[in-house]
Amino acid sequence: MKEIACNLLVIGAGPGGYVCAIRAGQLGLDTVIVDMARPGGTCLNIGCIPSKALIHAAEEFSAATAMASGKNHVGVSVADPRIDLVRTMAWKDGIVGRLSNGVAGLLKKAGVKMVAGSAAFRDGKTVEVATETGRQLIRARHVVIATGSTPVELPSLPFGGNVIGSTEALAMTSVPATLAVVGGGYIGLELGTAFAKMGARVTVVEAAERILPHYDADLTRPVARRLAELGVEILTSAKARGQASGPGKLLVERADGAEARIAADKVLVTVGRRPVIDGWGRDELVLDMDSHFIRIDDQCRTSMQGVYAIGDVTGEPMLAHRAMAQGEMVAEIVAGHSRAWDKRCIPAICFTDPEIVSAGLSPEAARSAGQALKIGQFPFSASGRAMTLGSDMGFVRVVARADSHVVLGIQAVGTGVSELAAAFSLAIEMGARLEDVAGTVHAHPTLGESFQEACMKALGLALHA
Ligand code: FAD
Ligand code: NAD
Repeated sequence: MKEIACNLLVIGAGPGGYVCAIRAGQLGLDTVIVDMARPGGTCLNIGCIPSKALIHAAEEFSAATAMASGKNHVGVSVADPRIDLVRTMAWKDGIVGRLSNGVAGLLKKAGVKMVAGSAAFRDGKTVEVATETGRQLIRARHVVIATGSTPVELPSLPFGGNVIGSTEALAMTSVPATLAVVGGGYIGLELGTAFAKMGARVTVVEAAERILPHYDADLTRPVARRLAELGVEILTSAKARGQASGPGKLLVERADGAEARIAADKVLVTVGRRPVIDGWGRDELVLDMDSHFIRIDDQCRTSMQGVYAIGDVTGEPMLAHRAMAQGEMVAEIVAGHSRAWDKRCIPAICFTDPEIVSAGLSPEAARSAGQALKIGQFPFSASGRAMTLGSDMGFVRVVARADSHVVLGIQAVGTGVSELAAAFSLAIEMGARLEDVAGTVHAHPTLGESFQEACMKALGLALHA
């Protein structure tokens, strides 16, 4: 068996793993990364990037459809818009291919050795990789587990046939006439909205009392309203019971206990993701677990010396930017730098229509931490920029300490607000006070002015509301 030795071995080339390997290579560490799939992991190949491409294409088509039906007010008309999903998918695949090649190029530039195959621990310092051409043994001083996550399957709706997960939804070549989405969280609503905009009749079956239960109701209300406009039916406090006999029907138990049959050429199951903790020889190690995630400390160290874990395999929030930040930190720790997880917030964005952003604490979370608060909320209905973008629904809300005015949390819902995430996170990370944001000159006309206005409002100094 072929054998190599290295200082750092990274298992999994998703955003956690590849960022870790690039930084390690840049720092001069002899680094190897293993993955059986294309570089980029879930995020780049079957997650963040392809889903955002599809969401964009669906929005373009939806806007054109509104123009064709005379429902838009900007004075543009078009005739007979169509969407060719085969071409849309080819465009999306082009982006994914370009980015994946880009990651491979960056790894190479950093001097990282890439091994294509499936890795399994033999012990804490030795990993066996099954490659296309045989087996390879890798001995490493430090190992990073970055094996990511995979969709949760419902026993009553196993994947296969017309029951699909996000990966299959992102590879569809025609728009189904009817689509049932089981799970009204991130993926279900991002993709469900996209398919509704492309012409599918969509029903969302959500077990909780409302959609996107991770966000507060003020933030999700505009999303629910827009879904209703798009003709999406939402069944909350409802349970999918399985496929009904006969083609294209999903059996659902409604909130009142009554049974319903939902038309569903495809059933998209998006009820969460689970960490990949099997298939890489976990039994050969002695790893403490946190429920079904690998337990880590503030340096991403596991309970075994020299073994680190990062990204989705280590817990919530299962987001690409958390994985990347952990990956970068671990590379520096292995290189001997003094680093520990000291982030004040990990922003979250839901790319629905309208989009939702949340950074730091919600009013409820801040209150339950015992804080007296100052809260300012500025509506996009008073924003010139929102009006010129053709959508003035939603708001920016800022949550600050009543005593020091230090900003604890910022949330927004509205068209295009995802791009405000950087300003929100920066303010929290830098310990900004309401006065800092209120006193910063914000360019006009931009949606960012609404952040400044929300801070002014919290101070009782609002100018435009
Ligand atoms: P992953 O990206 O899952 O990568 C793990 C890698 O490990 C994979 O490439 C896998 O092949 C490899 N691997 C596993 N086992 C082995 C083994 N034994 N040997 C070798 N290699 C192995 N997050 C966001 O922040 N923003 C978004 O907009 C967003 N959108 C999403 C949309 C969808 C549809 C999905 C499914 C997810 C989305 N996410 C989003 C979540 C994001 O994709 C994950 O949080 C992120 O990919 C986690 O990174 P990771 O490095 O931990 O693992
Ligand atoms: P999720 O946790 O966001 O949503 C799952 C939803 O399914 C929840 O609302 C839950 O109440 C519901 N549910 C659970 N069991 C159910 C059942 N039996 N019947 C009906 N509903 C049920 O999970 P997801 O949408 O699968 O996404 C997985 C993860 O991927 C997210 O938690 C997030 O970390 C990541 N992600 C992030 C983004 C983004 O950042 N924009 C986008 C997509 C995915």
